[in-house]
Amino acid sequence: MSRTTAPPPGNGQAVDPPARAWAAAGQALLATLAARLRDPLAGGAAGPAAAAPGRAWPAPEPCRLELHAPLPQAGRPADAVLAQALPLLLEGLPPPDHPRALAYITAPVDPFAVLGSLLAAGLQANLGLRRMAGLACAIEAQTLAWLAELVGAPALRGGLLLGGGSAAGQTAVWAALARACPGWHEEGLGARGPQLVAYASAASHHWLDRALRLAGLGARGLRRLPVDAEQRLQPETLARALAADRRAGRIPWLLVAHAGTVGSGAVDPLAALAALARREDLWLHIDGAYGAPYAALQAEPGGSDRLAACGASALADPAGLNQADSLALDPHKALHQPLGCGALLLRRPETLPAAFADAPPYYAEAEPAADPAPDPSQCGPENSRPFRALPLWLSLQAAGAQGLRASLRAELDGAAALRAALQASPAFVGGPGALGVQTFRPRAGGDAAVGQLLARLRADGHAALSAVRLAGPDETAPAAGAPRWLRACVVQGLGSAPEGLARLPGELAARLDPGAVGD
Ligand SMILES: *Cc1c(COP(=O)(O)O)cnc(C)c1O
Repeated sequence: MSRTTAPPPGNGQAVDPPARAWAAAGQALLATLAARLRDPLAGGAAGPAAAAPGRAWPAPEPCRLELHAPLPQAGRPADAVLAQALPLLLEGLPPPDHPRALAYITAPVDPFAVLGSLLAAGLQANLGLRRMAGLACAIEAQTLAWLAELVGAPALRGGLLLGGGSAAGQTAVWAALARACPGWHEEGLGARGPQLVAYASAASHHWLDRALRLAGLGARGLRRLPVDAEQRLQPETLARALAADRRAGRIPWLLVAHAGTVGSGAVDPLAALAALARREDLWLHIDGAYGAPYAALQAEPGGSDRLAACGASALADPAGLNQADSLALDPHKALHQPLGCGALLLRRPETLPAAFADAPPYYAEAEPAADPAPDPSQCGPENSRPFRALPLWLSLQAAGAQGLRASLRAELDGAAALRAALQASPAFVGGPGALGVQTFRPRAGGDAAVGQLLARLRADGHAALSAVRLAGPDETAPAAGAPRWLRACVVQGLGSAPEGLARLPGELAARLDPGAVGD
């Protein structure tokens, strides 16, 4: 704020008028956010429970705002800009912590992390180069170590924060490929390329298809394996596919296992898959973007039982996540961070520079001997890197492991209440579901009833749900014409109130046509 001709602040009290206006606008903004955000983490960051929750889903009419104004030529004061933009944003976007915002795994944000984001933006630390931001890089390293400790995976010694689970998975795939292809730097995939085959279950997320395609391996490079009735990959299924592929001269190199699938929250039998991957010399990437944080519950009394009760006993096994070569875990989901924060943790972090390192001529000032650790820009796809760790680092301290566990526990208890209510419901039948994710559909009326219910919910905004198709047992992908399931994702932290979720099936049944409600 020193771009004016006002005298520089001398004794700490003189502030030039633009700076004062900026601070006042900021205070008003914080007051608005404080009234809107609820604390999902027991971090004590914000108080007031949201009043009437309002719509769980944006209003159905298409956005009528004509955001087509030309670029403003003259600037305007900050308070005027905010006064115009804020009502637009607050009315146009539903509150992030609506108790029935269940459509996607997009969780409400920790208000304390919102402050961390503000601070990170203000500091503008660039975590690409250690010599510019050594302290920030150390904070990122500590944050990653805390995450590994939280989920009981101390063997995962380092990694990176990236934009999300997709970016984390893709980065792991590149590192694994560099290991699988000895001439990677010179020849890329080389002669082995066409023979390489990666494995994942029918329930894997599409980041994997994309990562393999962009690596030049194509769909042929991915073997999707059938899941059991709970959407889990069983080791025998993998073992059979490996044997058949090896007989055919193909080269298995990667297994992607799941700690919480996107469609139904399923957790694969991680320890058994890890043992098989080790025997077969496969790189094991565990996609725990959604589900890995729940492993934190293993450390508390009753935690293992709670995990088992929601289909995730593999997360209570210390030989699960800790055996991964790489693990993706999204703090912007169950750890309630601002979007754009996905962690990649690795058993051998040195595999990242092996895949990514370059020696660009425009960073000639580097003194290799001064800091033997490679720059983060040499360990992943990003060059300039934001201070993603800061909101998370602050938030982990404010909530503590206990506050985080309280939030994770509340989500599982909320999902358990929903499951019990679905079981007792005359109108709905439950499908696969684990951790905080549950699928269900009307007993009668098929896909049409699913579509009609979603349309009614979009219109009245009572709850937000989504729909998924799931592969049946022995299928490697959902069959053409496979039924749609409604999906509820309980990720509201402490706001995942079991009473409200227990009422949901009844509230939804009231929105079904009489024909869709069974007898
Ligand atoms: C959300 C999710 C992803 C993708 O993560 P983004 O952060 O959206 O990139 C990948 N896998 C699983 C299992 C997920 O739940």
